Amino acid sequence: MVIGCILLSGCTSVAPAGTNSPVTDTKTTRAIVVNESIRPGDDFYTHVNDAWLRSNPIPADKSAYGSFNELGDKVDNDLLALSLKAENVSSKDGDRNLTLIGQFYRSGMDTAAIEKAGIAPLKDDLAMIDAIGSRQDLTNATVTLTAKGSGTLYYYFADSNPRNSTEIVPWFYQGGLGLPDRDYYLRNDTDSRKLQETYRAHITKVFALMGEPDQQAAMDAKTVYAMEESLARSHFTSEENRDPAKTSNIYPLSDLEKKYPAIGWESLSTIPGSGPVRVVNVYQPRYIEGLNTQLLTAPLDDWKVYLRYQLVDSSSPYLSAPFENESFAFYSKTLYGTEEMKPRWKRVIITESNLLGDLVGREYVATYIDPRTRGMVTGMFSTIRKTFDSRIGNLTWMGSVTKAKAREKLAAMGEKIGYPDTWMDYSGLKLSDSYVSNVRSASAYSLIHGPQGLDKIGGSVNPDTWFVAPQVVNAFYDPTKNEMVFPAAILQPPFFDPNADASLNYGRIGWLIGHEMTHGFDDQGGRYDKDGNVNEWWTAEDKKNFDNRTAMIVTEYNHFEVLPGLYLNGNLTLGENIADFGGLTLAYHAWKENGNTVSGPSPANSSADRQFFTSAAATWRENERDDAARLWTLTDPHSAPEYRVNGVVFNIPEFYQAFPEIQPGDAFYRNVTDRPVIW
Ligand SMILES: [Zn+2]
Repeated sequence: MVIGCILLSGCTSVAPAGTNSPVTDTKTTRAIVVNESIRPGDDFYTHVNDAWLRSNPIPADKSAYGSFNELGDKVDNDLLALSLKAENVSSKDGDRNLTLIGQFYRSGMDTAAIEKAGIAPLKDDLAMIDAIGSRQDLTNATVTLTAKGSGTLYYYFADSNPRNSTEIVPWFYQGGLGLPDRDYYLRNDTDSRKLQETYRAHITKVFALMGEPDQQAAMDAKTVYAMEESLARSHFTSEENRDPAKTSNIYPLSDLEKKYPAIGWESLSTIPGSGPVRVVNVYQPRYIEGLNTQLLTAPLDDWKVYLRYQLVDSSSPYLSAPFENESFAFYSKTLYGTEEMKPRWKRVIITESNLLGDLVGREYVATYIDPRTRGMVTGMFSTIRKTFDSRIGNLTWMGSVTKAKAREKLAAMGEKIGYPDTWMDYSGLKLSDSYVSNVRSASAYSLIHGPQGLDKIGGSVNPDTWFVAPQVVNAFYDPTKNEMVFPAAILQPPFFDPNADASLNYGRIGWLIGHEMTHGFDDQGGRYDKDGNVNEWWTAEDKKNFDNRTAMIVTEYNHFEVLPGLYLNGNLTLGENIADFGGLTLAYHAWKENGNTVSGPSPANSSADRQFFTSAAATWRENERDDAARLWTLTDPHSAPEYRVNGVVFNIPEFYQAFPEIQPGDAFYRNVTDRPVIW
C-alpha cells in the first residue's frame, strides 16, 4: 500500500538526426521513425513517438494503449494458452496446480451456468444482511463479509510494522467508496456534479437488476450515495496517503476495541487462520473515527441498503450479463471512456491471474521466460547500484553523515528479480463450478494464506516472500522492506531483450531499475531507513537542501497541462517525478560506465547517446482517452506519459550534449539554473 511502482494500474534503435529512416529493434523488429518536423527541443516525447502514437490507436476495449499494454497483451495470450492446457488436465493426472487453474478458467467461461445462476450464489450473504437487527449484528456482518473475501468497507491484511519492521502486524486501510476517491464526492463543479448524478443512476440500475421497483431503487440509490459521501469525508486525500509519518499509526488492539468498538477489532483479530494480534497499523486514523461513528449512528436500515448494494456491485463483474454490463457501463465506459468490453476469455484470464497469482505464475515462468533473463538483469542491477553509490559519494549538497546512511541504505536494498524460489501453497483451496463463488473462495483463501495473509501475523518477515506475481507487467519498490521487485513479465521486449543493444536495455529496463532504486530516496521512501522503519535519518540541513531541490520539480510539473485547463499536481506526483529523473540519470551513467561489456555501439560514440535517449523516450509512449487521462491526473501519483519524458530529459545536462540543436527559445529548453540537481 505504500509501494512505489512504475504504473498504477504502463524499442528501438534510432536513426541519426536528419535521416528519418526507419531503424528496427534488434529482435522485436518494430520500426521507429523519428518525426523531424517536431523539433526535439519543442517536444522530445512526440518527436520520438509520433509515428508510433499515430499508428497505434486505442483499441475499443482499452482506456489507454502504450508499451505496457503491448507487453500486457502478449502476457494475456500466454496465460490463455496456459489456461486452455490446464482445462484439459483432470485431477486424476495428479497435477493439482493445473487442475485448479483449469477449474477456475472453465467456471469463468461457462456463461450458460453463470446466466442461469443470476445472483443466487450471493443469497446466503444477502439474507445475513437482511437479518441485521442490532448494532452488534451490523458489526458481525461486516467482519463476516471481510472474512469471506467480500468486505468493501476497508482493506485488512498483514504486513511489516512500519515502526518495527521485523514483526508482522495487521494493516487497516480505508475503503467503502464506489467513486475513485474522496474528492469525487466533495467537488462541486458542473462536471463533478454530473458524474455524481451518473453514479447515482448506476446504483439505481443495480438495485433494479436485483428486482426492486424503480421508485424504491432510486430511493435506495440516494441512501447508498449519502452513506458513501459521509465515509468519503473521513478519507485521507491522495497527498495525505503519501506521508509516512501520518500513515504509520500503531495502536494496541485493546485501545482500538475500546475507542472504536463498532468496527469489531476483536472479531477481525480472530478470523480463523489469523495469527495472534497485539497491535494494528492504522493507515488513516481519521477513517476509523468516521467509520466507527457511522456504524454507531446511521440507521440500521440504511446500512442494510448500503451493504446489499456493495456486495452485489463488487461481485457484478463475475455475475450474469446484465450485472456485468452495468458494471462495465459505469466503471469502464463512464469513468475511463472505454468503448467495449474486453473479450470474455481476457476478462477471465485477468481475474484468474489476480486471484491465483503464484499458481498461474509458476506455470508461466516455466514456459515463457528466457532463462538468460535473471542473470543479465541481475548484472544491470549491480552496475546501476554501483553508479548510484559513487554519485551519492560525489554529491555537493549532502553532508557526510547523511551520505554514509544513504549508502548504507542503498547497499541494504533488496532486489527480487523474475520470480520467487518458493511458491505460495494452494493445497487448501477448494473450487466449485460457480464462477463468482470461485472468485470469493480465492479471495478468502488469499486473505489468510496469501503473501499478505493473516496467518503471517505475529511471525517474522520472510525475505523470500513475493508480494506480486511474476506475470504482472510492472515493477515496485517497497519502503517498508527496502526492496525492489521486478516480476518476470516486465523483463521482456520492449523493456528488456537479451539480444538487444546495451543502449536499449539501459534506456528502458535500466531506467525502470533506476526509478525503483531512487524511490528509496524520494520525498516519501526517503523517510524510511535501511531496515524499513519510518525514521528521519537525514540531518536537518541535508533535508532542507533536498526539499529546496525537489521544490523546483513541484513547480515544474504544476505547469504541465494534460488537457485544456487540467494541470498535473506537482505535490501528488513528486515521488514519481523524482524517481523518473533519478532513474534516467542513473541508467545513463551506468550505461556509460558499463555498456561496453555488452554488444552494440560503444557508449563512447556520440551518436550512441542520441540512441540512448531516444530509446528511453519510447518507454512511455502511450495514447490515453480523455476521460482516463482526467481521472489519472486527479488521482494517480504518476505523471502523464508525455511528461514522464519531457519533464525529465530537459533536466539532464548530457541530453543537451547529445542534441546540440536544442537551444534557448525551444519550448522545453530549461536554463541551467532552472535544472534541479538531485542524484
Ligand atoms: Zn514509481
